[in-house]
Amino acid sequence: MNESSFLSDKRPQSVTQTTSRGHSTLEINDDRYDRLKLIGWWNQDRLQASRVLVVGAGALGNEVVKNLVLVGVGNLSIVDFDRIEMSNLSRAVFFRDEHCGRPKAIVVAEMARQLNPDCRVVGWPVDVTADIGLGLVREMDVVIGCVDNREARLWINRMCWKVGVPWIDGGIQEISGVAKTYCPPAGACYECTMTENDFRLMHLRYSCPLLKREDLQQGKVPTAPTIASFVGALQAQEALKLIHGREVGSGIGLIFNGDANHFYRTTFPRREDCLAHETYDDVISTPLTSSSLVRDVFEWTEQRLGLVADSLELDRDFLIEFRCENCHQSAAVEQCTNKISHRAAQCPVCLNVRVPQTTNRIERGDRLADYRLSQLGVPTRDIVKIKHSGGVSFIELGGDRNPACSEGPREALAGDSTDGC
Ligand SMILES: [Zn+2]
Ligand SMILES: [Zn+2]
Repeated sequence: MNESSFLSDKRPQSVTQTTSRGHSTLEINDDRYDRLKLIGWWNQDRLQASRVLVVGAGALGNEVVKNLVLVGVGNLSIVDFDRIEMSNLSRAVFFRDEHCGRPKAIVVAEMARQLNPDCRVVGWPVDVTADIGLGLVREMDVVIGCVDNREARLWINRMCWKVGVPWIDGGIQEISGVAKTYCPPAGACYECTMTENDFRLMHLRYSCPLLKREDLQQGKVPTAPTIASFVGALQAQEALKLIHGREVGSGIGLIFNGDANHFYRTTFPRREDCLAHETYDDVISTPLTSSSLVRDVFEWTEQRLGLVADSLELDRDFLIEFRCENCHQSAAVEQCTNKISHRAAQCPVCLNVRVPQTTNRIERGDRLADYRLSQLGVPTRDIVKIKHSGGVSFIELGGDRNPACSEGPREALAGDSTDGC
């Protein structure tokens, strides 16, 4: 590095202050990011313009947000439907006693804004698998996964792959942890890295298609705040490199064994037969919203694209009815499966577990074509997939982007939210 030219370009701004006695001066640097800008490749404007989605506001999420806000990442969205408990206070830097019972995402956002008022930080107390539209994800420079379960990781992975946004997954246990970077469409994805045993456990779980998020809470993972700092810092730092366009690789794991103090980098092999590599090319932005009827989407396709729509494919299974094999009775449900708990499958008459009848494809003549997309579980600002005479199109619900309102999931505007509009 050429020291002199470098310094002349980046001379810190200073102000001179006179003390009350009026005879001595001291220099106070008023540039918050002065030391960061001394890093050769650092671009503060680029960071200020960047958008990052952090999924999970627990121990890892706190650390990631803390670091991103310290360095002045301009736009942060934080998603977590969980509420703060006493046990979180030993591992999360932003949480205080008085926060217990409040949504994690909201509190982290509030505290992060205090830490650096330059940053626009929005908290969404919603479920990433049910309530976050692909249109929101598509706008991100990077998504950071700070979750503690496989289902959320699988979902984040598929979303990021569809819209081509890099994501950095963090995982911690006791005093060891890993940060994995995926940059679609290159390299391995999260599903490529899953072992046979992971798939076995996943299929066991998916054998019941009712996936209400609360039912999927796995056993509590033992973790120390020290490893959360370590892995959260790695995730944040890789994100900063990504935002700056620096090389991070794809399908890369940074693995730390805290017992042996063994740190290494590994490249995961890509599986060409992996089912998670679907990409949504050429997304078309439309004025349609999640309140539009399926029929409206078909009509739009016909009028604007000149193509005869055949069907709309849902990303989330829609439960039509429960059928009891014992009583030979059916009961209509009509809700997205991720909103139905496993307990709801029990027959109220004979207590037998009923068989769910689901669909993920709405055809032209289907009576569900008269339903609103939101009734079928399509979240705000999602991208829907339409099959038509010319193949397939990806249609973004651009009308959900109300400029007078925060551009996030609608559910976040209710309840304890102090964010949004
Ligand atoms: Zn894959
Ligand atoms: Zn029954």
